[in-house]
Amino acid sequence: MPDRFEITHKDVFGRIGKLTTPHGPIETPALLPVVNPNAALVAPDEMRQFGAVALITNAYIVYRNTRLKEAALSGGIHQLLGFDGPIMTDSGSFQLSTYGSIEVRSEEIVAFQRDIGSDIGTPIDIPTPPDVPFERALRELNVTLERIREAMTCCGAEMLLAAPIQGSTHLDLREQHARLLSTLDADVYPIGAVVPLMESYRYSDLSNVIMACKAGLALNKPVHLFGAGHPMMFALAVALGCDLFDSAAYALYARAGRYLTASGTHQLSDLAYLPCSCPVCAAGDPKLTERELAEHNLWVSFAELKTIKQAIVDGQLWELVERRCRYPALLQALRTIQKSCASFEAIEPLKCSFLYTSTESAERPDVARFSKKLNNLELTGRVLITTNRKKTRDMEQEFDTTLLMKAPFGPYPQELAETYPIGQSEVPAPDHASTKSAVRNLIELIRSKNLEATFAYDDRWNREDLVELSSYATLLPL
Ligand SMILES: [Zn+2]
Repeated sequence: MPDRFEITHKDVFGRIGKLTTPHGPIETPALLPVVNPNAALVAPDEMRQFGAVALITNAYIVYRNTRLKEAALSGGIHQLLGFDGPIMTDSGSFQLSTYGSIEVRSEEIVAFQRDIGSDIGTPIDIPTPPDVPFERALRELNVTLERIREAMTCCGAEMLLAAPIQGSTHLDLREQHARLLSTLDADVYPIGAVVPLMESYRYSDLSNVIMACKAGLALNKPVHLFGAGHPMMFALAVALGCDLFDSAAYALYARAGRYLTASGTHQLSDLAYLPCSCPVCAAGDPKLTERELAEHNLWVSFAELKTIKQAIVDGQLWELVERRCRYPALLQALRTIQKSCASFEAIEPLKCSFLYTSTESAERPDVARFSKKLNNLELTGRVLITTNRKKTRDMEQEFDTTLLMKAPFGPYPQELAETYPIGQSEVPAPDHASTKSAVRNLIELIRSKNLEATFAYDDRWNREDLVELSSYATLLPL
């Protein structure tokens, strides 16, 4: 069978892709709004106007209700919902995690999803919550694995199968499970049971779980972050390699009077002005009904996905993540993923621009990658590293080589001045963080080449940030 997921653009671990389903392609990253088949706040056929190309609904709710079940079996789920695009179905795992038990076996509900014409079906996995003992996570993960294997035999040829990755907050289990599932050749890989992490703002733990799952999965598999629906974390999740999101957040937040934005949440009653230009907010009256608030929440969520896709096309996804991760728990997550720079470095495509947006930019993978590039230089003997060549022109003949210096990257020879990242970066005057990165790369170069180095620096560089360097080089203020 030809690959059902095709990637067209990449940046960091994020990508723009096309997932082919029986009811048409889904361009990713995509948000699938959750539609309640009983009482949808926004009707399925209205979802397209916001930018939704696909929906997700709960097959278990349909299955349990005789009227809905019969209608779905005779006319199909698309006719029941009045939506002719791709429909993904969930299986009842959510009910299982909420109520502790459900009245259907996994293979029955998978066959039901197949029979009602679902485009992407899901077995009943066990959504193991965070922080449980290893033994429980392993035991439940094995049940999930068994149900996925079983589902592969009864999902039919048409329906795509989602194979949820579990393992609680045990990163080794997440990675192993992902690796095992990767070999089963399912079509979509949801990262399951992460809603409790998101609800408690544990974005660092969430990031670690996503990275562990990605480490085990083949890179060409589409990844679905189950239950993620707040636009403020889409950029981070996409950068970590998530392709699909589903959420009832637009409706749940609306019910609680909460107004979503790409940088956080407001209580609607606190807003004298609506900071958005969607059709609902543009009308000007800040007293929105629940339905209008849900509409705004959808507009803003889909707008954020477009911003993310353009950032991927422009090779600026890291910059966008840095701009979005200003909420403290998200900033913490950004710092967490920066510690895993090595894995990003290996896969991040070549860039053509670098904007220094915050002190976190100093720890971007491109900076570490530049250090490796420096180590390929052939250098020996006495080296002058200067931040202001006009002032050091006269002394250069005393040295074997002269290098320039740019924070956060570090030293570079004149011939790299026009190349990425030196020539294509916009950075402010060196700050504490960018000096630290530049000095780290310089020290690494001095040590690896055993150089006799002199660092000539002008007053834009803070002497206190150069203390460590003074053990490796002669410091010469200009
Ligand atoms: Zn709005």
